[in-house]
Amino acid sequence: MIKFDLPENPKKTGIATDFDGTISKIRQNQAEAIIDEQAKELLLKLSNCYRTVSIISGRPVKQLAQTVDIKGVFYIGNHGAEYLHNSHYQLLQEAIDVEPVIAKIYSEQKNKYSEFDFDYKKYSLAIHYRRHKHPEEAEKKIKELLEKYLTPQLKIQKGRMVYDIGPKNINKGLAIKRLVNKYELEYFLYVGDDRTDIDAFKQMKNLEAKGIRTIKIALLSKEAPKGLIENSDIQIESLAQLNSLFRELLKQC
Ligand SMILES: [Mg+2]
Repeated sequence: MIKFDLPENPKKTGIATDFDGTISKIRQNQAEAIIDEQAKELLLKLSNCYRTVSIISGRPVKQLAQTVDIKGVFYIGNHGAEYLHNSHYQLLQEAIDVEPVIAKIYSEQKNKYSEFDFDYKKYSLAIHYRRHKHPEEAEKKIKELLEKYLTPQLKIQKGRMVYDIGPKNINKGLAIKRLVNKYELEYFLYVGDDRTDIDAFKQMKNLEAKGIRTIKIALLSKEAPKGLIENSDIQIESLAQLNSLFRELLKQC
């Protein structure tokens, strides 16, 4: 069993998790990713007890909400640009500002590379290279392609077999800060497996300096990026372990 300080007051606590590779298995075709059934059941129960339960992903928020399909959960998409809770939708201005250039990159590049999968998300663009036989070669090509479009408003991020271009100052850390402020949380727990989740962990460290108790959980895989372990408090190795951690949290209800 994983040992950590359980939150004393669920009504002052937020729980959040990444989606791909965390509560869903990574698939060759990311459109086929499905939520783990046990995780789904547990997150629903947690959302009925804790102040907020959130799924924070790089996916567009509406697609994320449809894929996860848990009522009452706070969905955050495009790495913190889009927010959807019940039927209330919010989009950050910085994301609106980069929309034209993201559309331009997609329309100019989408048909040039059959070996990559372009995932156009309106406020960001992901280019997946999981099908490519030579990952290093693929990385170089994608980086070159994206760097041509780089402006001070944009950033390029690498994830598990993917590059993503999107608004510079929006990341999962910002999403967490917004949740903590909105719900006046005293305790925040987050689980992630990839590079963009490190942004979340780093922001949680800042929140700790302000007196918020945080638990940063890394779900490890063969593709775990550098820095994931170093920036986390707890490391787990499987979805089964994550589900037992969710069960521990339910004991506080
Ligand atoms: Mg992930």
